[in-house]
Amino acid sequence: MTDVALPMWCRLVRADNPGPMTLDGTNTYVLRTGDGNVVIDPGPWLEEHLDALMSLGPVSVGLITHHHPDHCGGVDLFRDLTGGAPVLARDPAASGADAELPPHGQRLDDFGLTVLDTPGHTADSVSFVADDGESVLLFSGDTVLGRGTTIVSHPDGDLGDYLASLELLRTAVPGDALLLPGHGPLRAGAVGVVDEYVAHRLQRIEQVRAALAGGARTARDVVEVVYADVDRALWPAAERTVEATLVYLRALG
Ligand SMILES: [Zn+2]
Repeated sequence: MTDVALPMWCRLVRADNPGPMTLDGTNTYVLRTGDGNVVIDPGPWLEEHLDALMSLGPVSVGLITHHHPDHCGGVDLFRDLTGGAPVLARDPAASGADAELPPHGQRLDDFGLTVLDTPGHTADSVSFVADDGESVLLFSGDTVLGRGTTIVSHPDGDLGDYLASLELLRTAVPGDALLLPGHGPLRAGAVGVVDEYVAHRLQRIEQVRAALAGGARTARDVVEVVYADVDRALWPAAERTVEATLVYLRALG
């Protein structure tokens, strides 16, 4: 799955911050435009990583998919190194950005990118779509990862929003679009990957329902049943997703 060929104008630079939540590290994407490079998710505060981004040429703007520090923790140093390139995010205050991204569905002037609001992992999560007429790229942040599954980070994240965002992504790009996630390998066939995410999340919701019917009371109880075969290092994250699921099921009544 790692042999996906990117167009010449797009480069992946992976930060050296591997871990249970970041997989192989944060994926930063550098898009070459006539006006300078557009950087999607400058990443954590790692000087080597930020230097690697700068080595690819002058930066015109930084874009942030969501406020988690593995995506934007290095934004102040990034801004300094670029000589003051503006950084845009859906929630500028939480992300350390300079200004808010244009509204959902709008093209970012000059960059050939469209911003899509895809809340769920966090309230401020966005995705970007680039289309050069030959290939369509979907930059999905942490909404859809290159492998495994993502979390719905209750209380910031919301499962109803998350399911709606997956539905939006399924229809926003052609089936053969490339998926460029915030973590993990690049994937061909973005819509197929999103479909897997929908199926997995619906399965987990049913498992949570069954655990509740079986007597589980708290999110922790549910995790011990539903995530029994998952690495315990991931249980705190799983618990947040289960909390989000409990809120979702309660709202359904
Ligand atoms: Zn995240």
